[in-house]
Amino acid sequence: MYYAYKYRLKPSDAHREELDRHRDICRQLYNHTLYRLNEYQDEHGELPSMTTLRSEIPDLQNWWDDLSDVYSKVLQTVVERLFDNLKSLSKLKENGYGVGQLKWKPPRKFRSFTYSQSGFKLDKKGGQTVLSLSKLADIPIRLHRAIPDDATLKQVTVKKEPTGEWFATFGVEMDREPPEPPENPERCVGIDVGILKYAHDTDGTAVGSLDLSDERERLEREQRSLSQKEHGSNNWKQRQRVAECHADLRRKRRDFLHKLSAYYAREYDLVAVEDLNVKGMLESPSNSRNTASAAWQTFLSLLEYKCEREGTHFVAVNPRGTTKECASCGVSTDKPLWVREHACPACGLEVDRDANAAWNILSRGLKDVGVGHSESTPVETALSVDTPVSAKHVVEAGSPTLKERTRGERVR
Ligand SMILES: [Zn+2]
Repeated sequence: MYYAYKYRLKPSDAHREELDRHRDICRQLYNHTLYRLNEYQDEHGELPSMTTLRSEIPDLQNWWDDLSDVYSKVLQTVVERLFDNLKSLSKLKENGYGVGQLKWKPPRKFRSFTYSQSGFKLDKKGGQTVLSLSKLADIPIRLHRAIPDDATLKQVTVKKEPTGEWFATFGVEMDREPPEPPENPERCVGIDVGILKYAHDTDGTAVGSLDLSDERERLEREQRSLSQKEHGSNNWKQRQRVAECHADLRRKRRDFLHKLSAYYAREYDLVAVEDLNVKGMLESPSNSRNTASAAWQTFLSLLEYKCEREGTHFVAVNPRGTTKECASCGVSTDKPLWVREHACPACGLEVDRDANAAWNILSRGLKDVGVGHSESTPVETALSVDTPVSAKHVVEAGSPTLKERTRGERVR
């Protein structure tokens, strides 16, 4: 399994200059390769292979002095990147999207470069941890969490955000055993994600949506100010401010999703959710569909990734009918989106709509891993559902609940 670990770099001014210089050489090589690709196609009537264009690099180095300043494997990944873009472009075309040809990259659009296999390592220099990049520099790095000992470092991508900050993302490979089937039903949870509430689980924990209205207001203010300054001299500074607002929003949203997913992966042996590719299409009204399903998708991929890391089962179940079906007796009742309670005409179960869905998700998840049904009944837990915990609490406390679960040592 492949994992990504992202860290902030702390480059000096001289480092920044070098990073930017390497980034720009890579960008120029990218544009040159794109030019060669088109030229080759005109001459031969077909696209060149990646190997063909990669093999031209040594010749280029004979007249293009700057290229020799950059580590050779980095140059090769630039060519690979062009072919990756080409591949995703043709995939989009297959699906009927009207996408133009590959574009020449201006500096603003080319923000990263990659060391693959070799030419980079983590090191200690002068009492601090540095990312040592061949032909570039030893750049101080903030390792806020450790890369596991059993991980193999495959590559590192250094990227400059629009705010001017630099980050390093390591691609690492780890061998992990698949987890044992869960035995304790208390350590299994079903989660229903929604629009009004962010999440509702079978333990009666409900988490509200993250309120970022202050941050959004600030962004709008800065954007207004930018459009007024369009021709002024402060244009560049203001653009930077807008980028910072965007980064701030993104950081807060991700921080919330990181903490919530870490909580579930840490506290449970099995986590069941809905397969959102289907759910997004079934449930959300068209205007909020894109934002909501994008956030769900991020949450689920973080959750899946963290579950795998913690040895927790992650199950994505078929979402069809999870809100309509009664978690207690299985009878289906039609329920429009605005009906927030589940009241079963067959067995009389009355619970929150999302709690009912969460229970259905859990029992489908348990069935999927072959464990059968959960011991506790929906009614017991559903009764303890209270007002949702605010998302802010998750961000501050790192989890939606205050109660500390006691659990035995995990066997690895
Ligand atoms: Zn029922």
